[in-house]
Amino acid sequence: MHTDLVAALDIGGTKIAGALVDGQGRILVRTQRATPAQEDGETVMRAVEAVLGELAAGPLWGRATALGIGSAGPVDASAGTVSPVNVPGWRDYPLVRRVRAVTGGLPVELIGDGVAITAAEHWQGAARGHDNALCMVVSTGVGGGLVLNGRLHPGPTGNAGHIGHISVDLDGDPCPCGGRGCVERLASGPNIARRAIEAGWLPGPDGDTSAEAVAAAARAGDPVAVASFERAAQALAAGIAATANLVEIDIAVVGGGVAKAGDVLFTPLHKALGDYATLSFVQRLTVTPAQMGTDAGLVGAAAAALARRPDATAAGV
Ligand SMILES: [Zn+2]
Repeated sequence: MHTDLVAALDIGGTKIAGALVDGQGRILVRTQRATPAQEDGETVMRAVEAVLGELAAGPLWGRATALGIGSAGPVDASAGTVSPVNVPGWRDYPLVRRVRAVTGGLPVELIGDGVAITAAEHWQGAARGHDNALCMVVSTGVGGGLVLNGRLHPGPTGNAGHIGHISVDLDGDPCPCGGRGCVERLASGPNIARRAIEAGWLPGPDGDTSAEAVAAAARAGDPVAVASFERAAQALAAGIAATANLVEIDIAVVGGGVAKAGDVLFTPLHKALGDYATLSFVQRLTVTPAQMGTDAGLVGAAAAALARRPDATAAGV
């Protein structure tokens, strides 16, 4: 077993994190910058270069044999470009070419952030040991990724498994993606909060109208707050069941800020799953909370880089 390291970048709308990760998924070195998300593309790239520069300045950099990048999407892994919704300065931005210019000869693997989190959960977290899994992030948006036949399935452009934009309500509300009745439109944190407010839920004295506040109200028994989480759970269950029918996943891992609501989300989710996952071959499907914390993006990017190496076996992804 080699002991070489891989470098990892996790690029989101609020932070750009970098790390050196070993073959067991341990983060040995890490660094981070705020994402200058509203600045021009070159300014954002300078923050990426600063993160890479800090990694490269350390004594372990010479052991890095590949670099994995998990980026907010959409990404186009085949073109090496990214167009993160929350970073308007980057549209079809040639991130892989620009990173290569800094890191020299390292092979670079680019995947979307939902796929990265999936890689992390499969390697180290709740989907470990499962050959067919869906992993989801339910927060400001709803993203995800797939493991099929024991391997990460990023798809040609690195976006496969983007369950947030499966329609589960044919005549439902328009979604910013251009579709209608998407899972995200029903189950994301902002939409859970919006629906609760529209149905008459009133925030507490602190005025907090986040999904977290709605979760706290639901926990205290507020029926409108409970109903909004039940509706989100129903949408998630329908999307998960559709995925199971299509590709026979046996586990769905749900993480992200909304999943922190715990039983407020998972109790109705388990119940709704029984309504949608009905065929014999999907009845063993389980839904479970994510286990990887805030490092999931970095660990997943590292897993993707490890899997790309010619001698790949360590990550098993
Ligand atoms: Zn959509």
